[in-house]
Amino acid sequence: MTNTLRCTYCGTVGLQPGFIADNAPSGRGDARWIAGAIERGALGGAKRMGRPNHQMDVFRCPNCGHLELFAGPVG
Ligand SMILES: [Zn+2]
Repeated sequence: MTNTLRCTYCGTVGLQPGFIADNAPSGRGDARWIAGAIERGALGGAKRMGRPNHQMDVFRCPNCGHLELFAGPVG
């Protein structure tokens, strides 16, 4: 599956879609983009309660390996 996205590093067109996995046992399996600067709780975990939580769409350049990240819809 290809598309017309262009690599901002080398200019190659046709980036590979994918996502960044989150291997935390409590997670849903994919990393999320959270609005606002990071804040940590007493146990060191990043606070994310009450913040919009966006799916991340990540595209890889087949030529140079550069990753283009997009914060998609909330959910
Ligand atoms: Zn590239």
